[in-house]
Order: sequence, then structure tokens, then C-alpha cells
Amino acid sequence: AQERYSSIRDKPATTECGATISLQMNAGLMADLPSLENSGAEGVGLFRTELQFLVRNQMPRRADLSVLYKRVLDAAQGKRVVFRTLDIGSDKVLPYMKPNEEPNPALGWRAIRVGLDKPGIMRMQLQALCRAADGGPLTVMFPFIAQFEEYRAARAEVDKTLAREAKLGHKLPSSIEVGAMLETPSLAFAPDKFFEEVGFLSIGGNDLKQFFFAADRENERVRKRYDTLNVSFLSFLERIVERCDATGTPLSFCGEDAGRPVEALCFAAIGMRSLSMRPASIGPVKSLLRRSNLAEVRAVIQEAQDRGEMTVRPAVMEYLRAKH
Ligand code: PEP
Ligand code: MG
Repeated sequence: AQERYSSIRDKPATTECGATISLQMNAGLMADLPSLENSGAEGVGLFRTELQFLVRNQMPRRADLSVLYKRVLDAAQGKRVVFRTLDIGSDKVLPYMKPNEEPNPALGWRAIRVGLDKPGIMRMQLQALCRAADGGPLTVMFPFIAQFEEYRAARAEVDKTLAREAKLGHKLPSSIEVGAMLETPSLAFAPDKFFEEVGFLSIGGNDLKQFFFAADRENERVRKRYDTLNVSFLSFLERIVERCDATGTPLSFCGEDAGRPVEALCFAAIGMRSLSMRPASIGPVKSLLRRSNLAEVRAVIQEAQDRGEMTVRPAVMEYLRAKH
């Protein structure tokens, strides 16, 4: 399938109206890295570090992690890699960690909540990342931040790690970007100060949608009731774009929906300029974006919203059929 798109692989995702959307890929294992070259992705917008913890039967050591992360950075050859710190709990349980019986794991003790309550693993991970950067740039993203304070506490861990590394005489990263995933509706309503302080935001649409509609992402029966292009969800996403634009906060979207061409097109139409997806989706998404006019799509979305439709999908599909 990637061959079909090889002619546009090295071209930008620039729309007919002149907007350029940065397309990045999601990854989690070394085996994903060759796709960075093949897919034409600009970088790794989401590196899910938990996968390397999940494929082992014991806790990895810092030195092993550091070697692994360095190999990822070397393979990226200077392209930006957004390392997301451990997102465990919920559906991802480490075989060597005591399972935690919880009635609602998706709403439970997971991701940054574990990271902040039991900071040992996160500190080890941050230290391994700093060393892997080997004096080059480093980008770290924290999962499942639900309130400003969690970001501040996580950010403080990064600063502590840097101070400790300096004291130990290790090279520090030449620059460090620290961001958060926006995957709980609460964060969209955080104070302006949060949007000013956070280095960047990436919408975790899989989780954000599940919490927005209160519909389990693992439960087909309820998940399928709610379209990503539902007018309420799209308005919500647009509100996030507006807040980020107002504070100059770089925003990306890295849930599965970013890799669906029609969804990606609508996200671009409401103002998103950075999407991260599985590598095989980059070609199809880029192909559609390059043939699209975002102002027209935005108008189609607006008209569907004004007509009181539940989802803008039929209107956008109809528009695309007429155009292409
Ligand atoms: C998301 O929630 O959209 C996301 C990218 O994170 P994950 O799928 O790993 O929960
Ligand atoms: Mg998530």
C-alpha cells in the first residue's frame, strides 16, 4: 500500500489552499523505526514507551533503557521523537507488577497517576532518556494529565533529573521540550496559565473520545454509537485548537482517528496543523489533504452544524464525492 503513495512520500502535506500539515508517525518498538524513512513521516509524534516494558518479563534496567532510547534516536537521524513516559494501568498491565484490582481501570490508577505516586520508574525513565539524548535535543510527553498540577509535578521531575544528571557529570540534552497529552476533557478547561506553561499538547483522541462520550473505547457496542465527527466532539476539539492558538501552544493529535483520512481532513479544517498516526496511514492522509481545500471543508462542517446534524460525516462525504 505504501508503494501507491511513493510519489508523494517526500512531498509535504500541503493543501490546495496552501496550509501545510505536519504528518508524523506513532511508534513503540524498534521494529517500527524503519517506517520513519518508508512512510515519509516528519518524525515520531508519539513513542509509546510502555511497549518495551510490556514485552519483557522483568523490569528493564536504566542502562538497558538508555541503550534502547539511544537506538531509537539514532534510527530517527535527527527527526524529532516524542517519548511518552510510561502509560501503564488500565488495559496495559506489566506482568511483573502486582496487579491492581480496580472496578474501573480506565478511570483508575494509571499513567501519570502511577508515575507521580510511585516516581521510581518515571525517574529511571527520565534519566535513561537524558542519557540517550547524548547531548542532543530531547522531547518528553506525559500521558493522561488531567489537571495543571499534575503537569507541574511531572515537569518538576524533569528538572530534578536534569539537576541530578548535571551533578553526576553527565551530558545534558542540548534542549528539552516537555509536553502533555490532552486525553481528559478536564484539561481542555485548565487555566490559561497551563496552556502558557506547557511546552506542547497532543490530543490522545482514543482516550479523550471515550471520556467525552463516557463510552468505553474497548467496548464496540457503545464505542460505535459515537462518531468522531459528531458535532459536539468536533466543537470541543475546535475549542482546544482556539485555546492553543491563543497562547501559541503547539498542538498535535495522536489518537487513531488522525490516521483516518476523512477525520484527518476535518481536524485540519478546524485548525489542527500536526497529526501523528500509524505509518501506513500517512500516505492516504497526505493524498487526501493535498487534494483538499480546508476553507471549503470548514464551510461544509459549519453548514452541517447549523442544520443541527448529529455528525458532519455525511455532509463531508457528500462534498468529497462531488469534488473528486
Ligand atoms: C490516545 O489515548 O489517543 C493515545 C494516543 O494513547 P493510547 O492509545 O496509548 O492510550
Ligand atoms: Mg491514551
